[in-house]
Amino acid sequence: MPPTSTHDLIVVGGGLIGSAIAWGASRAGADVILLDEGDVAFRAARGNFGLIWLQGKGVGKPPYMRWSLQAGHLWREFATLLVEETGIDIGWSQPGGLQFCFSEADIEKCRRIEAETRTDGGDIAITVMDRAGVEALVPAIGPEVIGGAYSTLDSHVSPLYLLRALQQGLQARGGHYWSAAPATAVRRDQGAFAVETPRGRVAGKRIVIAAGLGAAKLAPEVGLAMPVRPERGQIVVTERVKPFFPYVGSGVRQTVEGSFLIGSSHEEAGFSEATDVSTGAALCASAIRAFPQLAEVGVVRSWGSLRVMTPDGMPIYEESERCPGAYSATCHSGVTLCSAHALILGPALAAGTLPEAVSYFRSDRFDVQAH
Ligand SMILES: Cc1cc2nc3c(=O)[nH]c(=O)nc-3n(C[C@H](O)[C@H](O)[C@H](O)COP(=O)(O)OP(=O)(O)OC[C@H]3O[C@@H](n4cnc5c(N)ncnc54)[C@H](O)[C@@H]3O)c2cc1C
Repeated sequence: MPPTSTHDLIVVGGGLIGSAIAWGASRAGADVILLDEGDVAFRAARGNFGLIWLQGKGVGKPPYMRWSLQAGHLWREFATLLVEETGIDIGWSQPGGLQFCFSEADIEKCRRIEAETRTDGGDIAITVMDRAGVEALVPAIGPEVIGGAYSTLDSHVSPLYLLRALQQGLQARGGHYWSAAPATAVRRDQGAFAVETPRGRVAGKRIVIAAGLGAAKLAPEVGLAMPVRPERGQIVVTERVKPFFPYVGSGVRQTVEGSFLIGSSHEEAGFSEATDVSTGAALCASAIRAFPQLAEVGVVRSWGSLRVMTPDGMPIYEESERCPGAYSATCHSGVTLCSAHALILGPALAAGTLPEAVSYFRSDRFDVQAH
Protein backbone atom coordinates (compact mmCIF):
# COMPACT_ATOMS: atom_id res chain seq x y z
CA MET A 1 0.00 0.00 0.00
CA PRO A 2 1.45 3.47 -0.90
CA PRO A 3 2.33 5.69 2.07
CA THR A 4 -0.28 8.20 3.24
CA SER A 5 0.27 11.70 1.84
CA THR A 6 -0.02 14.15 4.77
CA HIS A 7 -0.91 17.87 4.52
CA ASP A 8 -2.21 20.92 6.41
CA LEU A 9 -5.34 21.19 4.29
CA ILE A 10 -7.16 18.75 2.02
CA VAL A 11 -9.49 20.36 -0.51
CA VAL A 12 -11.95 17.90 -2.05
CA GLY A 13 -13.16 19.14 -5.45
CA GLY A 14 -11.04 20.76 -8.14
CA GLY A 15 -13.73 23.02 -9.58
CA LEU A 16 -13.51 26.80 -9.31
CA ILE A 17 -14.40 26.88 -5.63
CA GLY A 18 -11.95 24.20 -4.51
CA SER A 19 -9.16 25.46 -6.77
CA ALA A 20 -9.57 29.06 -5.57
CA ILE A 21 -9.52 28.01 -1.93
CA ALA A 22 -6.52 25.75 -2.49
CA TRP A 23 -4.54 28.49 -4.27
CA GLY A 24 -5.44 31.07 -1.61
CA ALA A 25 -4.57 28.75 1.28
CA SER A 26 -1.30 27.85 -0.37
CA ARG A 27 -0.40 31.54 -0.78
CA ALA A 28 -1.04 31.90 2.95
CA GLY A 29 1.61 29.27 3.64
CA ALA A 30 -0.44 26.09 4.05
CA ASP A 31 0.66 22.76 2.59
CA VAL A 32 -2.41 21.99 0.46
CA ILE A 33 -3.59 19.01 -1.56
CA LEU A 34 -6.43 19.41 -4.05
CA LEU A 35 -8.31 16.25 -5.02
CA ASP A 36 -10.50 16.10 -8.11
CA GLU A 37 -12.74 13.34 -9.39
CA GLY A 38 -11.86 14.03 -13.03
CA ASP A 39 -13.58 13.91 -16.40
CA VAL A 40 -16.44 11.64 -15.35
CA ALA A 41 -17.69 14.20 -12.79
CA PHE A 42 -20.19 17.02 -13.30
CA ARG A 43 -18.01 20.11 -13.54
CA ALA A 44 -19.67 23.54 -13.66
CA ALA A 45 -16.20 25.09 -13.64
CA ARG A 46 -15.75 23.85 -17.22
CA GLY A 47 -19.20 24.72 -18.54
CA ASN A 48 -20.01 28.17 -17.23
CA PHE A 49 -20.58 31.55 -18.85
CA GLY A 50 -17.58 33.36 -17.37
CA LEU A 51 -19.39 36.40 -16.00
CA ILE A 52 -18.59 38.33 -12.86
CA TRP A 53 -22.05 39.84 -12.62
CA LEU A 54 -22.79 42.04 -9.62
CA GLN A 55 -25.75 44.26 -10.48
CA GLY A 56 -28.79 42.70 -8.84
CA LYS A 57 -26.79 39.99 -7.09
CA GLY A 58 -28.17 39.43 -3.60
CA VAL A 59 -30.98 41.98 -3.81
CA GLY A 60 -33.20 41.37 -0.77
CA LYS A 61 -30.44 39.18 0.76
CA PRO A 62 -27.98 41.73 2.23
CA PRO A 63 -25.32 39.25 3.50
CA TYR A 64 -25.12 37.72 0.01
CA MET A 65 -25.03 41.13 -1.63
CA ARG A 66 -22.19 42.29 0.65
CA TRP A 67 -20.14 39.12 0.09
CA SER A 68 -20.66 39.29 -3.69
CA LEU A 69 -19.76 42.97 -3.90
CA GLN A 70 -16.67 42.38 -1.79
CA ALA A 71 -15.68 39.74 -4.37
CA GLY A 72 -16.45 42.16 -7.20
CA HIS A 73 -14.17 44.82 -5.74
CA LEU A 74 -11.39 42.26 -5.20
CA TRP A 75 -11.35 41.00 -8.78
CA ARG A 76 -8.77 43.47 -10.12
CA GLU A 77 -6.28 42.65 -7.38
CA PHE A 78 -6.98 38.93 -7.70
CA ALA A 79 -6.63 38.84 -11.49
CA THR A 80 -3.43 40.87 -11.33
CA LEU A 81 -1.88 38.57 -8.71
CA LEU A 82 -2.87 35.40 -10.53
CA VAL A 83 -1.60 36.56 -13.92
CA GLU A 84 1.67 37.89 -12.46
CA GLU A 85 2.24 34.66 -10.60
CA THR A 86 1.39 32.18 -13.33
CA GLY A 87 1.97 34.08 -16.56
CA ILE A 88 -1.40 32.73 -17.77
CA ASP A 89 -3.66 35.26 -19.47
CA ILE A 90 -7.03 34.54 -17.84
CA GLY A 91 -8.81 36.93 -20.20
CA TRP A 92 -10.21 39.11 -17.41
CA SER A 93 -11.51 42.53 -18.32
CA GLN A 94 -13.92 44.89 -16.64
CA PRO A 95 -15.79 46.81 -19.30
CA GLY A 96 -18.93 47.02 -17.15
CA GLY A 97 -22.23 45.19 -17.54
CA LEU A 98 -25.31 46.17 -19.52
CA GLN A 99 -28.72 44.74 -18.76
CA PHE A 100 -30.96 45.30 -21.79
CA CYS A 101 -34.61 46.28 -21.30
CA PHE A 102 -37.30 45.43 -23.85
CA SER A 103 -40.37 46.70 -21.95
CA GLU A 104 -41.42 49.25 -19.34
CA ALA A 105 -41.66 46.36 -16.89
CA ASP A 106 -37.97 45.55 -17.53
CA ILE A 107 -37.00 49.16 -16.86
CA GLU A 108 -39.13 49.21 -13.73
CA LYS A 109 -37.35 46.06 -12.52
CA CYS A 110 -33.93 47.68 -13.08
CA ARG A 111 -35.08 50.77 -11.15
CA ARG A 112 -36.27 48.56 -8.31
CA ILE A 113 -32.96 46.69 -8.21
CA GLU A 114 -31.05 49.98 -8.19
CA ALA A 115 -33.20 51.39 -5.36
CA GLU A 116 -33.09 48.22 -3.23
CA THR A 117 -29.32 47.96 -3.71
CA ARG A 118 -28.94 51.52 -2.43
CA THR A 119 -31.29 50.89 0.51
CA ASP A 120 -29.24 47.84 1.51
CA GLY A 121 -26.03 49.86 1.32
CA GLY A 122 -24.70 48.03 -1.74
CA ASP A 123 -21.32 49.39 -2.76
CA ILE A 124 -22.10 49.45 -6.50
CA ALA A 125 -23.29 52.18 -8.85
CA ILE A 126 -26.09 51.14 -11.20
CA THR A 127 -27.27 53.60 -13.84
CA VAL A 128 -30.69 52.99 -15.35
CA MET A 129 -30.95 54.62 -18.76
CA ASP A 130 -33.28 55.10 -21.69
CA ARG A 131 -32.67 53.85 -25.21
CA ALA A 132 -30.58 56.88 -26.15
CA GLY A 133 -28.28 56.18 -23.21
CA VAL A 134 -27.80 52.55 -24.22
CA GLU A 135 -27.37 53.44 -27.87
CA ALA A 136 -24.64 55.93 -26.99
CA LEU A 137 -22.73 53.06 -25.40
CA VAL A 138 -23.55 50.39 -27.99
CA PRO A 139 -24.72 51.72 -31.36
CA ALA A 140 -25.33 48.14 -32.58
CA ILE A 141 -28.44 47.54 -30.41
CA GLY A 142 -31.66 46.47 -32.07
CA PRO A 143 -34.85 48.57 -32.36
CA GLU A 144 -36.63 46.60 -29.61
CA VAL A 145 -34.21 47.74 -26.88
CA ILE A 146 -35.94 50.57 -25.01
CA GLY A 147 -33.42 51.07 -22.22
CA GLY A 148 -31.02 49.36 -19.90
CA ALA A 149 -28.98 49.37 -16.72
CA TYR A 150 -25.21 49.74 -16.54
CA SER A 151 -22.69 49.04 -13.82
CA THR A 152 -18.92 49.49 -14.05
CA LEU A 153 -18.28 46.65 -11.56
CA ASP A 154 -19.36 43.81 -13.85
CA SER A 155 -16.63 41.96 -15.72
CA HIS A 156 -15.80 38.72 -17.50
CA VAL A 157 -13.07 36.11 -17.66
CA SER A 158 -12.09 32.99 -19.56
CA PRO A 159 -13.25 30.31 -17.09
CA LEU A 160 -10.96 27.56 -18.39
CA TYR A 161 -7.81 29.70 -18.22
CA LEU A 162 -8.90 30.87 -14.77
CA LEU A 163 -9.17 27.27 -13.59
CA ARG A 164 -5.85 26.33 -15.15
CA ALA A 165 -4.09 29.33 -13.59
CA LEU A 166 -5.38 28.49 -10.10
CA GLN A 167 -4.28 24.87 -10.38
CA GLN A 168 -0.89 25.66 -11.91
CA GLY A 169 -0.33 28.44 -9.38
CA LEU A 170 -1.07 26.00 -6.57
CA GLN A 171 1.44 23.50 -7.92
CA ALA A 172 4.09 26.17 -8.56
CA ARG A 173 3.92 26.99 -4.86
CA GLY A 174 4.55 23.38 -3.93
CA GLY A 175 0.89 22.48 -3.49
CA HIS A 176 -0.42 19.17 -4.81
CA TYR A 177 -3.15 18.54 -7.38
CA TRP A 178 -4.43 15.03 -7.86
CA SER A 179 -6.79 14.51 -10.76
CA ALA A 180 -8.67 11.25 -11.24
CA ALA A 181 -8.68 11.08 -7.44
CA PRO A 182 -12.28 11.00 -6.23
CA ALA A 183 -12.63 10.95 -2.47
CA THR A 184 -14.45 7.68 -1.88
CA ALA A 185 -14.49 7.88 1.92
CA VAL A 186 -13.69 10.60 4.43
CA ARG A 187 -13.28 10.11 8.15
CA ARG A 188 -11.81 11.76 11.21
CA ASP A 189 -9.17 9.67 12.87
CA GLN A 190 -7.15 10.70 15.95
CA GLY A 191 -7.68 14.41 15.38
CA ALA A 192 -6.82 14.31 11.66
CA PHE A 193 -8.81 13.66 8.50
CA ALA A 194 -8.19 10.67 6.27
CA VAL A 195 -9.46 10.51 2.70
CA GLU A 196 -9.44 7.40 0.54
CA THR A 197 -8.87 7.84 -3.18
CA PRO A 198 -7.96 5.39 -5.96
CA ARG A 199 -4.52 7.06 -6.03
CA GLY A 200 -3.88 6.46 -2.35
CA ARG A 201 -4.79 7.70 1.11
CA VAL A 202 -4.47 11.38 2.01
CA ALA A 203 -4.31 12.78 5.53
CA GLY A 204 -4.73 16.36 6.70
CA LYS A 205 -5.27 18.52 9.77
CA ARG A 206 -8.21 20.19 8.06
CA ILE A 207 -10.48 19.42 5.13
CA VAL A 208 -12.79 21.44 2.88
CA ILE A 209 -15.60 19.76 0.99
CA ALA A 210 -15.92 21.78 -2.23
CA ALA A 211 -17.00 18.93 -4.47
CA GLY A 212 -19.87 20.66 -6.29
CA LEU A 213 -22.71 18.22 -6.88
CA GLY A 214 -20.55 15.48 -5.35
CA ALA A 215 -20.66 17.27 -2.00
CA ALA A 216 -24.21 16.24 -1.06
CA LYS A 217 -23.10 12.64 -0.59
CA LEU A 218 -19.65 13.28 0.89
CA ALA A 219 -20.33 16.08 3.37
CA PRO A 220 -22.39 14.05 5.88
CA GLU A 221 -19.38 11.77 6.43
CA VAL A 222 -17.81 14.65 8.38
CA GLY A 223 -21.02 16.00 9.90
CA LEU A 224 -21.78 18.66 7.28
CA ALA A 225 -25.01 19.26 5.37
CA MET A 226 -24.70 20.39 1.74
CA PRO A 227 -28.16 20.00 0.19
CA VAL A 228 -27.25 20.86 -3.40
CA ARG A 229 -29.15 19.95 -6.54
CA PRO A 230 -28.43 20.35 -10.26
CA GLU A 231 -29.92 23.06 -12.48
CA ARG A 232 -29.03 22.81 -16.14
CA GLY A 233 -27.79 25.73 -18.17
CA GLN A 234 -27.27 25.60 -21.93
CA ILE A 235 -24.86 27.93 -23.71
CA VAL A 236 -24.55 28.64 -27.44
CA VAL A 237 -21.32 29.86 -29.07
CA THR A 238 -21.12 31.67 -32.41
CA GLU A 239 -18.35 31.91 -34.94
CA ARG A 240 -15.90 34.77 -34.46
CA VAL A 241 -16.97 38.19 -35.70
CA LYS A 242 -15.59 41.71 -35.65
CA PRO A 243 -16.03 43.23 -32.15
CA PHE A 244 -19.25 45.23 -31.76
CA PHE A 245 -20.23 44.66 -28.12
CA PRO A 246 -17.48 46.03 -25.86
CA TYR A 247 -19.45 45.46 -22.61
CA VAL A 248 -20.87 42.33 -20.99
CA GLY A 249 -24.55 41.43 -20.86
CA SER A 250 -26.19 39.05 -18.42
CA GLY A 251 -27.00 36.64 -21.26
CA VAL A 252 -24.70 37.70 -24.06
CA ARG A 253 -21.03 38.59 -24.25
CA GLN A 254 -18.35 38.76 -26.91
CA THR A 255 -15.11 37.03 -26.02
CA VAL A 256 -11.72 38.52 -26.70
CA GLU A 257 -11.42 36.11 -29.66
CA GLY A 258 -14.63 37.47 -31.21
CA SER A 259 -17.13 34.65 -30.51
CA PHE A 260 -20.45 35.50 -28.93
CA LEU A 261 -21.47 33.44 -25.92
CA ILE A 262 -25.24 33.29 -25.57
CA GLY A 263 -26.91 31.85 -22.52
CA SER A 264 -27.64 30.49 -20.13
CA SER A 265 -30.93 28.65 -19.70
CA HIS A 266 -32.29 27.64 -16.28
CA GLU A 267 -33.75 24.13 -16.48
CA GLU A 268 -34.80 21.40 -14.10
CA ALA A 269 -33.36 18.42 -16.01
CA GLY A 270 -32.01 16.24 -13.25
CA PHE A 271 -28.45 15.16 -13.97
CA SER A 272 -28.80 15.47 -17.76
CA GLU A 273 -26.21 17.70 -19.44
CA ALA A 274 -27.90 17.32 -22.84
CA THR A 275 -28.64 20.18 -25.21
CA ASP A 276 -31.78 20.65 -27.28
CA VAL A 277 -32.47 22.76 -30.33
CA SER A 278 -35.54 24.55 -28.98
CA THR A 279 -33.70 25.88 -25.91
CA GLY A 280 -30.73 26.95 -28.05
CA ALA A 281 -33.09 28.66 -30.50
CA ALA A 282 -34.84 30.55 -27.68
CA LEU A 283 -31.48 31.74 -26.32
CA CYS A 284 -30.43 32.90 -29.80
CA ALA A 285 -33.77 34.65 -30.38
CA SER A 286 -33.32 36.72 -27.26
CA ALA A 287 -29.72 37.63 -28.20
CA ILE A 288 -30.94 38.63 -31.69
CA ARG A 289 -33.48 41.00 -30.11
CA ALA A 290 -30.53 42.84 -28.56
CA PHE A 291 -28.27 42.55 -31.63
CA PRO A 292 -30.17 41.82 -34.87
CA GLN A 293 -26.92 41.27 -36.82
CA LEU A 294 -26.37 38.08 -34.83
CA ALA A 295 -29.07 36.51 -37.03
CA GLU A 296 -26.44 36.34 -39.78
CA VAL A 297 -23.76 34.78 -37.58
CA GLY A 298 -23.22 31.02 -37.53
CA VAL A 299 -23.49 28.89 -34.39
CA VAL A 300 -20.42 26.71 -33.92
CA ARG A 301 -21.26 24.78 -30.78
CA SER A 302 -23.42 24.52 -27.70
CA TRP A 303 -23.26 22.64 -24.45
CA GLY A 304 -25.21 21.92 -21.31
CA SER A 305 -23.73 22.04 -17.84
CA LEU A 306 -25.12 21.71 -14.33
CA ARG A 307 -25.23 24.53 -11.81
CA VAL A 308 -24.75 23.59 -8.17
CA MET A 309 -27.81 25.02 -6.42
CA THR A 310 -28.62 25.29 -2.72
CA PRO A 311 -32.30 25.55 -1.71
CA ASP A 312 -32.21 29.38 -1.47
CA GLY A 313 -29.52 30.02 -4.10
CA MET A 314 -27.07 31.41 -1.57
CA PRO A 315 -23.71 29.85 -0.64
CA ILE A 316 -22.97 27.46 2.20
CA TYR A 317 -19.77 27.85 4.23
CA GLU A 318 -19.63 26.15 7.59
CA GLU A 319 -17.40 24.31 10.03
CA SER A 320 -18.64 20.93 11.19
CA GLU A 321 -19.68 20.77 14.84
CA ARG A 322 -19.21 17.01 14.96
CA CYS A 323 -15.82 17.09 13.20
CA PRO A 324 -14.13 20.46 13.87
CA GLY A 325 -11.61 21.22 11.15
CA ALA A 326 -13.99 20.03 8.40
CA TYR A 327 -15.55 22.80 6.32
CA SER A 328 -18.12 23.07 3.53
CA ALA A 329 -17.93 25.50 0.60
CA THR A 330 -20.48 25.75 -2.19
CA CYS A 331 -22.26 28.44 -4.18
CA HIS A 332 -23.79 28.91 -7.62
CA SER A 333 -21.70 31.93 -8.67
CA GLY A 334 -18.26 30.48 -8.32
CA VAL A 335 -16.78 32.69 -11.05
CA THR A 336 -18.07 35.89 -9.45
CA LEU A 337 -17.02 34.82 -5.95
CA CYS A 338 -13.68 33.35 -7.07
CA SER A 339 -11.69 36.40 -5.94
CA ALA A 340 -13.15 36.25 -2.43
CA HIS A 341 -12.63 32.50 -2.23
CA ALA A 342 -8.99 32.95 -3.23
CA LEU A 343 -8.06 36.05 -1.24
CA ILE A 344 -10.31 35.78 1.84
CA LEU A 345 -11.68 32.26 2.32
CA GLY A 346 -8.53 30.32 1.34
CA PRO A 347 -6.22 32.18 3.75
CA ALA A 348 -8.83 31.94 6.53
CA LEU A 349 -9.14 28.18 6.08
CA ALA A 350 -5.34 27.88 6.05
CA ALA A 351 -5.51 29.39 9.53
CA GLY A 352 -8.42 27.18 10.59
CA THR A 353 -11.12 29.85 10.76
CA LEU A 354 -14.06 31.11 8.70
CA PRO A 355 -14.18 34.82 7.86
CA GLU A 356 -16.83 36.85 9.64
CA ALA A 357 -18.22 37.90 6.23
CA VAL A 358 -19.55 34.37 5.64
CA SER A 359 -21.00 33.69 9.09
CA TYR A 360 -24.56 34.03 7.74
CA PHE A 361 -24.18 31.15 5.28
CA ARG A 362 -24.63 28.18 7.62
CA SER A 363 -26.69 25.22 6.48
CA ASP A 364 -29.01 25.39 9.52
CA ARG A 365 -31.03 28.05 7.65
CA PHE A 366 -32.43 25.04 5.75
CA ASP A 367 -34.52 22.28 7.16
CA VAL A 368 -31.84 19.63 6.63
CA GLN A 369 -29.36 17.94 8.89
CA ALA A 370 -26.09 16.15 8.36
CA HIS A 371 -26.37 12.46 9.23
C1 LIG B 1 -24.30 26.96 -17.53
C2 LIG B 1 -23.62 27.60 -16.36
C3 LIG B 1 -23.30 28.96 -16.41
C4 LIG B 1 -22.67 29.55 -15.32
N1 LIG B 1 -22.32 30.85 -15.43
C5 LIG B 1 -21.71 31.46 -14.39
C6 LIG B 1 -21.30 32.81 -14.50
O1 LIG B 1 -21.43 33.45 -15.55
N2 LIG B 1 -20.77 33.41 -13.40
C7 LIG B 1 -20.61 32.72 -12.22
O2 LIG B 1 -20.16 33.32 -11.25
N3 LIG B 1 -20.93 31.43 -12.12
C8 LIG B 1 -21.47 30.77 -13.17
N4 LIG B 1 -21.79 29.45 -13.07
C9 LIG B 1 -21.50 28.72 -11.82
C10 LIG B 1 -20.05 28.32 -11.69
O3 LIG B 1 -19.63 27.63 -12.82
C11 LIG B 1 -19.86 27.45 -10.43
O4 LIG B 1 -20.34 28.15 -9.31
C12 LIG B 1 -18.39 27.14 -10.29
O5 LIG B 1 -18.02 26.27 -11.31
C13 LIG B 1 -17.97 26.55 -8.98
O6 LIG B 1 -18.54 25.34 -8.77
P1 LIG B 1 -17.91 24.21 -7.86
O7 LIG B 1 -16.43 24.31 -7.75
O8 LIG B 1 -18.72 24.16 -6.62
O9 LIG B 1 -18.36 22.95 -8.69
P2 LIG B 1 -17.76 22.34 -9.99
O10 LIG B 1 -17.15 23.32 -10.86
O11 LIG B 1 -18.85 21.47 -10.53
O12 LIG B 1 -16.60 21.44 -9.40
C14 LIG B 1 -16.81 20.39 -8.52
C15 LIG B 1 -15.60 19.49 -8.64
O13 LIG B 1 -15.68 18.51 -7.61
C16 LIG B 1 -15.16 17.32 -8.13
N5 LIG B 1 -15.71 16.21 -7.34
C17 LIG B 1 -16.99 15.78 -7.23
N6 LIG B 1 -17.06 14.74 -6.38
C18 LIG B 1 -15.79 14.53 -5.93
C19 LIG B 1 -15.23 13.61 -5.03
N7 LIG B 1 -15.97 12.70 -4.40
N8 LIG B 1 -13.89 13.66 -4.83
C20 LIG B 1 -13.11 14.58 -5.45
N9 LIG B 1 -13.61 15.49 -6.31
C21 LIG B 1 -14.93 15.46 -6.53
C22 LIG B 1 -15.55 17.28 -9.59
O14 LIG B 1 -14.59 16.54 -10.32
C23 LIG B 1 -15.55 18.76 -9.97
O15 LIG B 1 -14.35 19.15 -10.65
C24 LIG B 1 -22.39 28.79 -14.15
C25 LIG B 1 -22.67 27.44 -14.12
C26 LIG B 1 -23.28 26.84 -15.21
C27 LIG B 1 -23.56 25.38 -15.16
